[in-house]
Amino acid sequence: MRLSPDARDVHPVMKRFLAACGLMFGVSSAYAEPTLVVTPTSVHPGDAVVVSVIGTAALPHGKAGGVPLHFFAAKRGFQAVFATPLEINEDHILVEVTDGPAPLSVAVVAKRLPESSVVVEDELANPPKADRERIDLDNGAIGAAYAKADGAPQFVHPFRRPPGGVTSTFGEWRTFNDGHRSQHLGLDLGEPEGAKVLAINSGTVALVRTTVLAGNVVVVAHGGGITSMYFHLARSLVAEGDVVTQGTPLGLVGHTGRTTGPHLHLGVHVAGGMVDPATFLELPLAPATPPATARR
Ligand SMILES: [Zn+2]
Repeated sequence: MRLSPDARDVHPVMKRFLAACGLMFGVSSAYAEPTLVVTPTSVHPGDAVVVSVIGTAALPHGKAGGVPLHFFAAKRGFQAVFATPLEINEDHILVEVTDGPAPLSVAVVAKRLPESSVVVEDELANPPKADRERIDLDNGAIGAAYAKADGAPQFVHPFRRPPGGVTSTFGEWRTFNDGHRSQHLGLDLGEPEGAKVLAINSGTVALVRTTVLAGNVVVVAHGGGITSMYFHLARSLVAEGDVVTQGTPLGLVGHTGRTTGPHLHLGVHVAGGMVDPATFLELPLAPATPPATARR
């Protein structure tokens, strides 16, 4: 049998056959099967997951739980990050790559989320109509900032956790003084008022805004579909469009917006939704280093 010189011309089924022949006859590994790796393999709702496809030169396409994955070039192969939906009803998420290796299943394990009662000023617990309209605009602006994270990763190093002990975890349910409940979609870290808040990785400032509930907000788009956000700042130290590197001061810890005291609320959004920053920070993300000429 003659092997085609160009794997791209070969039908995937034929490619598998050729790969098998290669194994049998010790032919070069040009047709080696790509490998699919999903980390972690067992998640809670709201956890971040990274999908890696190794052993292929072509940009993969695929889905997780039916939602398209957006792959970027990694140090080895390609990676894509997705959010385990908070409202997921199934006990697994199927990760599929087109023309690639066999699908993998990520086990979804339900988690009992903490509940707490929070007392804040009445107008923040139960905002008047004018504030509710502003809150909708705030949410729209933050949502629009997520789209600015499309495109290649602007970071090469792992994400760095900000300092401070955890004062509230992701997913906690809070009942406010007026009785309404809301879910906490970030990680609260205890830090003194005025402490510098540093970018957890390189990226571009996608939003600087004074909001009703989150106070002074900075959102950084990192590429790869990843945004990080910093809430309740005493003030921000950057402007929209600023290119920041890991450790760039973004603002100062404060207690602006709906909060009971100074702390940093760190939020992380990836394709598919908000994720638990604690799980996101553990992901083995390793984007390819861009060529020097491509750097900004
Ligand atoms: Zn918070």
